[in-house]
Amino acid sequence: MSVTTQDRSLAPVRLERSLIPELERFGAVDVSACFNCGSCTAVCPIGTEDGAFPRRLIRYAQLGMRDRLAASPEVWSCYACGECTQSCPRDADPAGFMAAARRWATASHDHTGLARRLATSAPFATVFITLLVGALAAFLYTAHRPVSGREIALFEYLPATFVHNLGIAILAAFGVAAIGGLVRCCRTLSRVRPAEHGTRSTRAIGEAVWFAVARESIAQERMRRECADDPGVEARPWYLRRWFIHAATMWGFLGLLVATIADFLLDLTGLKPTGVHVPLWYPVRLLGTLGGLLLVYGTSVSIVRRVRKRERSVARSSVSDWWFLWLLWFAGVSGFALELALYLPDAPGWGYPVFLFHVAVSMTLVLLAPFGKFAHAIYRPVALAVLRLRSGSGGAPA
Ligand code: SF4
Ligand code: SF4
Repeated sequence: MSVTTQDRSLAPVRLERSLIPELERFGAVDVSACFNCGSCTAVCPIGTEDGAFPRRLIRYAQLGMRDRLAASPEVWSCYACGECTQSCPRDADPAGFMAAARRWATASHDHTGLARRLATSAPFATVFITLLVGALAAFLYTAHRPVSGREIALFEYLPATFVHNLGIAILAAFGVAAIGGLVRCCRTLSRVRPAEHGTRSTRAIGEAVWFAVARESIAQERMRRECADDPGVEARPWYLRRWFIHAATMWGFLGLLVATIADFLLDLTGLKPTGVHVPLWYPVRLLGTLGGLLLVYGTSVSIVRRVRKRERSVARSSVSDWWFLWLLWFAGVSGFALELALYLPDAPGWGYPVFLFHVAVSMTLVLLAPFGKFAHAIYRPVALAVLRLRSGSGGAPA
């Protein structure tokens, strides 16, 4: 059922009872249990003085204010530390609510319906992703050529042009989905504006973008400074801290992406044709190896922690958490197996199937990026920049 009411300062507000059940399908636990006490706001490292974050978003959900929830950039500012859930006297799991709201928002920005299915149905996600990896591997296999000799020759086995062209098509599909989602995200965020919102200077916009992209997304400044790890693990070394595990995964993925693009450009300019054997210390190879190491380390620790469920930040994992992590892990591990096959003397015959698998998994990861957890890398910087402009801070605005 939906009701339209009027907020005197803003646009008409649509109230929908279906919002809570919908959020529950995305992983929210018991939104109705919240009685608005504010404990979550008091303990939240990015809570604001007006006591509105995160409970205001929960209130929107309780009242069925779909548009207000979707238009709240605060949905993307949460670090998923779990402190609020620990302090909630009603077991309403506000941290779980925030995570569910982000999945719900990702699905709202995707008009194909794929993001919704991938986030709400484990059987669908498993079958779809397995079939997609299989189909891409089979398609790649159709272009293979028989190779003889003891040395592994990946781009004699699969023509480099074929792999590059397929890669460009995958990147184009990713670009279309990501840009479409980004446009919808910007439109949604601009739907509800604070009354005092006015024109901002170019300098302020530049500062907000710098804050959101460089300081928050790449350097993870506030996550390092403000989000404490679970109780009892404060003495953890830096390489086991939650921010570093997250950063290792992200930096590793970015490192691999840059190395792949650089390899392609070197081939394009004739500086290093794809497939030419280079030593391990060759800069692009080194970047790829370091990126792969970080990626496998970050994803392995994350998977182990999610399986063990000992920490409040990973006590509950969603379908999206799992498939995204496993795809990243498989991409990283198969990349290393491939590197072994390239550098080991008498390259083993398993190198070619691993090559097919690695390329298929990596392409699946890129194709599905706008439809799953990775989408937060697209939407979060935009939302943080909007928050920064509106409030002067990257947290929830007053
Ligand atoms: S989610 Fe829990 S802690 Fe937060 S306002 Fe509601 S009842 Fe209070
Ligand atoms: S999980 Fe999010 S909303 Fe909850 S305390 Fe941490 S940052 Fe705040």
